[in-house]
Amino acid sequence: MIKGKSVVITGSTSGIGLGMARKFAAAGAKVMLNGFGDAHEIETIRYEMAEEFGVDVAYSAADVTKPDEIETMLQAANRDHGGVDILVNNAGVQHTAKIQDFPPEKWDLVIATNLSAAFHATRLVLPQMLERNWGRIINTASAHGLVASVEKAAYVAAKHGVVGLTKVVALETAKTGVTCNAICPGWVLTPLVMQQIEKRAEENGTTVAEEKEKLLLEKQPSGEFVTVEQLGDLALFLSSEAAAQIRGQAIAMDGGWTAQ
Ligand code: NAD
Repeated sequence: MIKGKSVVITGSTSGIGLGMARKFAAAGAKVMLNGFGDAHEIETIRYEMAEEFGVDVAYSAADVTKPDEIETMLQAANRDHGGVDILVNNAGVQHTAKIQDFPPEKWDLVIATNLSAAFHATRLVLPQMLERNWGRIINTASAHGLVASVEKAAYVAAKHGVVGLTKVVALETAKTGVTCNAICPGWVLTPLVMQQIEKRAEENGTTVAEEKEKLLLEKQPSGEFVTVEQLGDLALFLSSEAAAQIRGQAIAMDGGWTAQ
């Protein structure tokens, strides 16, 4: 089912996107990686993934806050992988501050990366998916696409926006073979979250281990982090035929966070 399909995953040089990329590659898909980072490290990731799974793995350095760079990345996937069958809009950044202290440029960055990029990539891939009458668009939203937390105005607004965008795309494609859904993870131990844990440890004069524990206690009843492998398997499932009638959903994988 996934074998031979072409997948573009934004923000896949680390964390959740990388975990998803590995799952798609293991299932035999051609993968286009994207994101920032050390060029040598990224090339090692790309090369090792291609070797390990025997699939074509490409990389685009596109900055998804720039629509013309998204277009260039998608053109590269068309050229090198014969099109885009599955698009995962996953790139994301966070900034935490109270509203009155929230730097406007950080607001713009979080909205551009987490929300507007998904709009641009979606509008650019939809025509070819509709022409083939098959496609999957998977947006990495967040538990913060369903509920809010303090000091995350831009992130919560962006992720609620992603959930809204997902529903509109799903409705506009409802009678086709293209589906669009959002995944809403709870806490996952990635660089994005480690940064917040380290900031809290510094502010509270605690250890990283204590802050990890507190983070889970505050929000995640399971007391365990969600893993990138679990999220990768969910993305694979949403790409399968079994999920063909899952449309416009915001699927939480959050250890019970949003059940409270
Ligand atoms: P991460 O920091 O490990 O990965 C973020 C990825 O996005 C990296 O590859 C980074 O280079 C890339 N990126 C950032 N800005 C970019 C830009 N302008 N252009 C291209 N790539 C860019 O973080 P993560 O936790 O894996 O986050 C992935 C997604 O999951 C994000 O959308 C995030 O909001 C979401 N999410 C994470 C958690 C969590 O607990 N970690 C929970 C819910 C949702």
